[in-house]
Amino acid sequence: FRDYVNGFPVESDMYLSTDNTIRLKVPEGSNGVLVKNLYLSCDPYMRIRMREDEDPTVITSFAPGSVMTGFGVAKVLDSGHPKFKKGDLIWGMTGFEEYTLITTPESLFKIEHTDVPLSYYTGILGMPGMTAYVGFHEICSPKKGEYVFISAASGAVGQLVGQFAKLIGCYVVGSAGSKEKVDLLMNKFGFNKAFNYKEEHDLNDVLKRYFPEGIDIYFDNVGGKMLEAVILNMREHGRIALCGMISQYNLDQHEGVNNLMCLIYKRVRMEGFTATEYFPLYSKFLDMILPHIREGKIAYVEDIAKGLESSPSALVGLFSGRNVGKQVIEVARR
Ligand code: NDP
Repeated sequence: FRDYVNGFPVESDMYLSTDNTIRLKVPEGSNGVLVKNLYLSCDPYMRIRMREDEDPTVITSFAPGSVMTGFGVAKVLDSGHPKFKKGDLIWGMTGFEEYTLITTPESLFKIEHTDVPLSYYTGILGMPGMTAYVGFHEICSPKKGEYVFISAASGAVGQLVGQFAKLIGCYVVGSAGSKEKVDLLMNKFGFNKAFNYKEEHDLNDVLKRYFPEGIDIYFDNVGGKMLEAVILNMREHGRIALCGMISQYNLDQHEGVNNLMCLIYKRVRMEGFTATEYFPLYSKFLDMILPHIREGKIAYVEDIAKGLESSPSALVGLFSGRNVGKQVIEVARR
């Protein structure tokens, strides 16, 4: 990571460097884990870590000149920790590099199921999967037949929220930024309806068109103008899960949100959440999702960039919507 970023991130905010002095052994007496990184996850929150002024009690900024960290899948090469041994596969926080010495291995998850693609542990079986699961089931309290709207719906999180909602019998509409993504929502993920928000001049109008009776549940991945328009279209006792606000991440000053009075009149609950707080539910989540994947009841689309050198472009691409599905970087294959 080169230096703090203002505005949209660009590839040159990151650089690739070589260090030949690294020893592929855990230092004597350390309880760390030395891993070979296989798949790295590009996530929108990483942009927030590129800001200088973030509150360190909430999220730590990347230090200029340091190796960027993020979620990934890796193979253990050496371990000083009793829970892990050479050859284990893990997912969790690692470095955007070929090899990483992870000094806090307690936070890592051991991968036990390898009959599914390993890259899934950056997405459907990792942090974004947990986000969709807790955000929808724990925060939105969904019921069969309810009207559900999801923004950034074809992404790592959105595509799953839509499918979870379909599984319990909701009516599901998603918005996304291209025709290809809208087609995916309708034809691959089984949404009832989908639209390209970039082609709509009036978001309030388009929501009224797709939800003539209003919205029960809004899973918000983007914030900003879309959130404002949704608030106008919520039904009584609706729920809004504030998952992310990607439309705000590159602004120096976050925009205010209008129409909040409607939440009072309609007695709507709006609640923010972070997936990591729910990580203790991970094994319950795995028990639910693995059978769905194996039986083909849930699909997952990934956008896999090859090689560590593709990381800057893959990460930056999230903010123009270049990724189609979960953005992953394949560093090595086992
Ligand atoms: P995605 O895979 O959906 O990638 C980001 C997508 O956001 C892009 O492909 C693009 O899709 C869309 N986008 C980019 N800029 C804008 C913009 N200005 N306005 C509207 N849409 C935009 O990412 P994830 O699924 O991983 O994350 C989705 C959201 O969830 C993010 O806000 C993220 O920060 C949040 N999140 C929150 C977590 C939590 O714990 N609360 C955990 C994980 C994610 P398109 O082409 O459709 O515009």
